[in-house]
Amino acid sequence: MIVILHPNIDENSASFKKTWNYLNNLKNIRTQKHIVEGQFQKLTEIYLFGDTAALNKEEIEALPSVERVVRVSQEYRILGRHKDSKRLTGFEYNGVRFDQDNLHVFAGLCAVDTKEHVEQMMKALKENDQVCTRMGAYKPRTNPYSFQGHGKDCLPYVFELAGKYGIKIIAMEILHENHIQEIIDALEETGNPTGVMFQVGTRNTQNFELLKAIGRQSQFPVLLKRGFGITLNESLNAAEYLASEGNAKVIFCLRGMKTSFSEPHRNMVDFSLVPAIKRLTRMPVCIDPSHSVGSREASPDGILDIFHATAQGIIVGANMVLVDFHPDPIKALVDGPQALQLKELSRFLEDVKITREAYEKRRNLAKESKPIK
Ligand code: PEP
Ligand code: MN
Repeated sequence: MIVILHPNIDENSASFKKTWNYLNNLKNIRTQKHIVEGQFQKLTEIYLFGDTAALNKEEIEALPSVERVVRVSQEYRILGRHKDSKRLTGFEYNGVRFDQDNLHVFAGLCAVDTKEHVEQMMKALKENDQVCTRMGAYKPRTNPYSFQGHGKDCLPYVFELAGKYGIKIIAMEILHENHIQEIIDALEETGNPTGVMFQVGTRNTQNFELLKAIGRQSQFPVLLKRGFGITLNESLNAAEYLASEGNAKVIFCLRGMKTSFSEPHRNMVDFSLVPAIKRLTRMPVCIDPSHSVGSREASPDGILDIFHATAQGIIVGANMVLVDFHPDPIKALVDGPQALQLKELSRFLEDVKITREAYEKRRNLAKESKPIK
């Protein structure tokens, strides 16, 4: 059960204290408080766990400072919508807002290889008014002899260059809970010039101890990738692990499913699920066209498959695009064949803009028209 308090409630007020004490004295019930930062207001939600079936909803709704009470189904207790479309979505991090209504592009290196490539990438982003990027320092590789990423050694120059080029957020995969502290240390050492979004890769979607460790901190938001060979429900439950430990700043990322039926694409593009995830949960939804398509093949219309897949996600309302670029793909140490070139960045962003406008027109049309039942 979720008890939603009036917006911007003062936790020192008598009415808040009365409600809080009442809820904490309920028998066989455990409480957990979450603050949801919306664009215009702050909401305090109190989650009740335990024997909630025995509770009287109306009685709790009558408490001072309570706006409404939502009974939740078992699934995705914190991140789910629970048939309540009024619940706020999203969060703000380092001056950038993420929710189910907007869109951000994170173009960048799959893996950091040289300082020069990082600088060329970030310079191109700045020239295109971009403030977010992706930079892999810790790489999960199929082959133990493949390049494993520069790890913490590259963090100082990556963060300093981000500061130099006005990058506010870097999406960076972490593979072990020790990497959290390594990133915190490097940010401090360089004077916090940028922010980091922790990425949980598809190979770690169900690494529950890693999820719990990341969930115990809420300084950094998390980009959780769908597991490549598990159901959507299983991946959404993995996201809930982060929230259940206290970090609900989670973005869910589709990156395609592993099956040989997807050929010639690397993975089966699953972006038609974007609206379903927005209906089931309050998470903003990201798409990763690079790891889904896996190549620079183009169709006879002259448009790359990666561009087409991106459009497929955006036209149905994706909120974030994670996409591989490289200044010199031949020299890339990881995933060169799927990297877009810097000279393609402005065209990519233009293509994204056209498709986003089409989505917004579709959304407005639906709002203006009577719902189709
Ligand atoms: C990545 O984004 O660099 C990556 C390894 O992706 P995935 O976990 O989807 O394979
Ligand atoms: Mn990759």
